[in-house]
Amino acid sequence: PTLSAYHPTTAEIDLAAFNENITKLKKLVKKSMLLAVIKTNAYGHGTVRIGEEAVKAGAESLGVTTVEEGALLRENGIDVPIHILSSITPEQASDVVRYELTASVFSIRLAKAISEVAVKQRKTIPVHLKLDTGLHRFGLEPHEVLSFCEVCYELPGLWWEGVYTHFSSVDEGDWETTERQFNLFIDTVTMLDEQGFNFAIRHVGGSTIAIERPDMHLDMVRPGVALFGYQPAARQRDIISLKPVMALKSNLIYVRELPPNTPVGYGGSYVTRTTKKIAVVPIGHGDGYSRALSNKGKMLIGGKRVKIIGTISLDQTLVDVTDVPDVTEGEEVILLGEQGGDEITAEDVADWMGSIVDEVVSGFTERIRRVYV
Ligand code: PLP
Repeated sequence: PTLSAYHPTTAEIDLAAFNENITKLKKLVKKSMLLAVIKTNAYGHGTVRIGEEAVKAGAESLGVTTVEEGALLRENGIDVPIHILSSITPEQASDVVRYELTASVFSIRLAKAISEVAVKQRKTIPVHLKLDTGLHRFGLEPHEVLSFCEVCYELPGLWWEGVYTHFSSVDEGDWETTERQFNLFIDTVTMLDEQGFNFAIRHVGGSTIAIERPDMHLDMVRPGVALFGYQPAARQRDIISLKPVMALKSNLIYVRELPPNTPVGYGGSYVTRTTKKIAVVPIGHGDGYSRALSNKGKMLIGGKRVKIIGTISLDQTLVDVTDVPDVTEGEEVILLGEQGGDEITAEDVADWMGSIVDEVVSGFTERIRRVYV
């Protein structure tokens, strides 16, 4: 059996919702191209299946973090441009060329390594120059780009197809910082252009830029989290309505009654005050269900919102089902999604964890089966 074969907790992935989200985003970005960011196992939704759907729904290209993710997509027959949005090492150049992936390049060593392999294989490989305009994660600073281009732009086997940056503070709605970074990007690209270093595809932003800043769409936008139905900021709900793609479902595996003053779970971080009915849900932090939800999170059972009690363990979570009538083992549990007119969203879970939806949905491990509906 696979790791997830008998695990009662499954993630249902609604492909129609995914499709609808892409269609809406494509309408927003109009003439700019849409690069669907499907990194980190497509934010937990499954690289290959989501990659295929994104292309079917009209994404012109895909974005991933690693060469391995890119190779997996290619081996499954996906032939649109695949961008590696993170930093890679020169040792990975041979796979970049073999799988014809579009690397983000800002190191002379990497540029030379890809060039060397490409020439040997008589290929021309597209690459995008990564500029750092203030995120200070990676990329070349504006004052470094000219000397970089003087060394790398004419390397054989490379086609400098694009240039891009990534903003630091868009989801917070810090437009002053974002506009400063955008202007720095435009000034730098204009300067390069005047020096004869031209790039056909300029791109700067993900979901928030796609939704809120048409003036910054340029030639391509790179939404990630929005594809999966989440607006990075609540203020965006007035502009676009997206549908969550993932629902997380399980079944109770044990129900019992405990008398007052009974400590429950590791460390006894919860103690019953009255007689309580306690149930076990088969998911824990080993499945990517955060321990930060201990004594904080909620689930839906029998149409009621129930509380997580005690400390979440590696494989199990305990919930208080005292108020759920006729609850028995096998009863359906909704950890993300709707039941009985109520809904638990990834935003709710992120709030309880003190995190963001990206961490909630991308964290589920291989034991959680993805079921495509
Ligand atoms: N572009 C780059 C370079 C990224 O690193 C990411 C995600 O972190 C995205 C786009 C997508 O961002 P979002 O999920 O906010 O749309």
